[in-house]
Amino acid sequence: MTQALPPVSTRDEWEERVSKMRLPEAAYVAGHPVEAVSGETFANFSPTTGNIVNHVAAADAADVDRAVAAARAAFVQGDWANSSPGDRKKVLLRLAGLIRENAEELALLESLDMGKPISDALNVDVPAAAGVWQWHAEAIDKIYDEIAPTGRGDLALVRREPLGVVAAVVPWNFPLDMAAWKCAPALAAGNSVVLKPAEQSPLSALRLAELATEAGVPDGVLNVLPGFGETAGQALGRHPDVDCLAFTGSTEVGKYFLSYSAESNAKPVWLELGGKSPNLVFADAESLDEVAAKTAFGIFYNQGEVCSANSRLLVHRSVKDELLERLVEQAAAMAPGHPLDPDTTMGALVSREHTDRVMEFVESGRKTARLVVGGERLTLSSDCYVTPTIFDDVSNDQEIARDEIFGPVLSVISFDDEAEAVRIANDTRFGLAASVWTSDLSRALRVSEQLKVGTVSVNTVDALSPMTPFGGFKQSGVGRDLSLHSFDKYTALKTTWICY
Ligand code: NAP
Ligand code: MG
Repeated sequence: MTQALPPVSTRDEWEERVSKMRLPEAAYVAGHPVEAVSGETFANFSPTTGNIVNHVAAADAADVDRAVAAARAAFVQGDWANSSPGDRKKVLLRLAGLIRENAEELALLESLDMGKPISDALNVDVPAAAGVWQWHAEAIDKIYDEIAPTGRGDLALVRREPLGVVAAVVPWNFPLDMAAWKCAPALAAGNSVVLKPAEQSPLSALRLAELATEAGVPDGVLNVLPGFGETAGQALGRHPDVDCLAFTGSTEVGKYFLSYSAESNAKPVWLELGGKSPNLVFADAESLDEVAAKTAFGIFYNQGEVCSANSRLLVHRSVKDELLERLVEQAAAMAPGHPLDPDTTMGALVSREHTDRVMEFVESGRKTARLVVGGERLTLSSDCYVTPTIFDDVSNDQEIARDEIFGPVLSVISFDDEAEAVRIANDTRFGLAASVWTSDLSRALRVSEQLKVGTVSVNTVDALSPMTPFGGFKQSGVGRDLSLHSFDKYTALKTTWICY
């Protein structure tokens, strides 16, 4: 059983906890921690400490073969796949409970691995992950199959079946949550899963696998392979015995998975990809104070490393200066700090390489637009800190308006009327999310209808819940995570037609 540890609150206490904590380092296959087949490990760097925190098994194609075989064996054996939805529900609810019981440890692994503020990890990421497991667990014994309206003499049953072996490849920005978004519906539906976390953030996924075993998930049903995208990720994408591939990450890598599938067994590939989400502020927005506060949250939360970040602020020219003034205050209040300090609201970016990349965009912005605030790289516990940055007078054809920066950088673009706002908003290859600020209900609906995105948040940002589907139009992806629709990805419909 898991040992309950005393609650922790100060930075010193968190740091002491790190020094005493056992960090997961083995892959997890068939219900047990295992070394990589090759015996190789990779250095897991923490942007929080600026150092290597541990060495983790470097899974490659041989490990993928072993994990897929374990997942297939568990599926065929049927303890999980053939158990009743109600029984699966009980186990997954236990897992949600164990995530909550181990919240501090999981939050610390998350913060250590990718630099997010411990308070956010503890108050947002971990409860959200538990909530996603709980929601899908509770849903699974409430979904009915169908009988088609054939008429007498025929009985056509339309039933949902699990696919078999689902592979999930996820990014580092919300490691535990992204794992939950894929694994919770896939497992609830009766599949076996092989999960590959990002190389930057392997720790919470490995701990999750242990907790799943503790909750009663049978051996082989949830396997976790830390390792690199080019090796382990690609091998999963190409594996002939993987029935479905669920990916969250960049558009570039998402496209690779489509070709891996085309070149192997034509497995379905579900993609949650990047974004360049517009935040449209009309002159009739009710409160510019609230717009400023939510806009700052929408772009600076999680260091801006959010796929649906509102990274383009489209604002009516008549209220731009007023809004910018307030936004600068918000940005100043979000100065980066040590992730383990409980008061920190903006932590470290995930890695030195990623920080370099974000700073290249900042340099590009300096050349093409007007820097209003920020734009600095700071050295605190490491050199992975960037101050909240706002560029004004951006035009939508500039690099900082077109490419996903995945950092705390906001591009402000002015518009003069509604049609222009919608045109600029849709002038992007992405289509993940958008926000609309207006006190005119007709305008809110009219604009929402025209935006080619998966989620429109009206008078807020990033509206999100396990109850509602999340995913993208255009090059932001295909398929939807969360909600009852997420089960569509991990099940196949079977028709059984009986003549009598
Ligand atoms: P990424 O580079 O695309 O990596 C995502 C995952 O793919 C990682 O596990 C990565 O492994 C793996 N990978 C990398 N190259 C691969 C290859 N050639 N073949 C197979 N797998 C490969 O994305 P990231 O930098 O981790 O995350 C940031 C991106 O994720 C952003 O574009 C963001 O918008 C997107 N994102 C989208 C959503 C959404 O729901 N739409 C949510 C969160 C993030 P390694 O890291 O080990 O190389
Ligand atoms: Mg790391």
